Amino acid sequence: MFSERIQRLSGSLIREILAAAQRPEVISFAGGLPASQCLPELDLGSVPQSLAQYGTTEGEPELREAIAREANRMGIACSADQVLVLSGSQQALDLAAKLFVDPGTPVLTEGPTYLAALQVLKLFGAEIHAVPQHADGSLDAGEFGAAIDRVRPAFSYLIPSFQNPSGACYDEANRKRLAEVLDTAGVPVFEDDPYRALSYDGEAPAPLVSHLKKVSFIYAGSFSKTLVPGLREGYLIASPDLYPYLVKLKQAADLHTNRIGQWYVARALNDPGYAAHIDKLRATYRAGRDAMQDALARHFADLADWQLPKGGLFFWLTLKTPQDTRKLLPRALEHNVAFMPGEPFYPNPEDGIGHLRLNFSHTAPERIEEGIARLAALVRG
Ligand code: PMP
Repeated sequence: MFSERIQRLSGSLIREILAAAQRPEVISFAGGLPASQCLPELDLGSVPQSLAQYGTTEGEPELREAIAREANRMGIACSADQVLVLSGSQQALDLAAKLFVDPGTPVLTEGPTYLAALQVLKLFGAEIHAVPQHADGSLDAGEFGAAIDRVRPAFSYLIPSFQNPSGACYDEANRKRLAEVLDTAGVPVFEDDPYRALSYDGEAPAPLVSHLKKVSFIYAGSFSKTLVPGLREGYLIASPDLYPYLVKLKQAADLHTNRIGQWYVARALNDPGYAAHIDKLRATYRAGRDAMQDALARHFADLADWQLPKGGLFFWLTLKTPQDTRKLLPRALEHNVAFMPGEPFYPNPEDGIGHLRLNFSHTAPERIEEGIARLAALVRG
């Protein structure tokens, strides 16, 4: 009755967990939700009437220009003509998969990588190979190059800044070496960068794509972490060879992104108070991160290893005595604490045995200690 690809449609474990974790008595480190008090007011009182009409697939000119200005400031030399406004940056994954992936097409990712990227790539039948990240939060360029030679991927999907789930942020030298490998091999890259603004110890290094000399790229950004996830506003910037295909794919998917959301985002970006808003987000999440670091140091020092994330929304724990954390989860929920098991973040879940992802943005710092203590008791068994 359905298409052949429906057999490859996997449910998102995180959505099922989030449903169970929504009971108020559950301390949830599972999702990646912004703190409710950090969501700006949805003041839509003065929406221009002209936005009632259909818009262009590429997006509202004012927003595309604001995005291009910011991208150039970050080091990506581009024009507004290379910006495509999306219904959330998740849509960039869908469009990239449609552009590059047939059943059996090899794609190279980091291991671990973003769960919902795996979901999309699998749906289109990609054969996903992962290059393991190192415990110090780097991706070895030699290993990456060797994997490219072996796998010959149609493209490589990377999250170099404050990765979901590992929190890793590649330093500038690492980015340059990876960019060189991609340029030499001629493998297009998809850089996913939704967490860049959420930095707690200084700015993230310039995007990896800013170091490319010739290879095709898609750079995806999001307003979900900095403004309002409910509006579903994101964007991609693509090299000129890919851009026209992505516009047509977007047109076929949904004609264009919601214009009222685009107007809201453009107005926020051009507001003189925007920098102060980002500073407030950083201060709030830094406090959450520090509270979790303290709680982990108290309860997990003998149970797990981890790096202090310099940005983003997650701690990534590696248990000293590996156990399948998917089995730990139902017990944790019985004890009213939720986390995200590590296994689903790997193309081959068995490679992820013994990891936990813990979100620190959605739980008040004073409840973090209690949740971490409960979790430690369960890991101890
Ligand atoms: N990429 C990564 C790595 C993410 O963590 C997320 C959100 N969880 C997204 C993309 C999608 O973000 P959005 O569609 O809300 O912009």
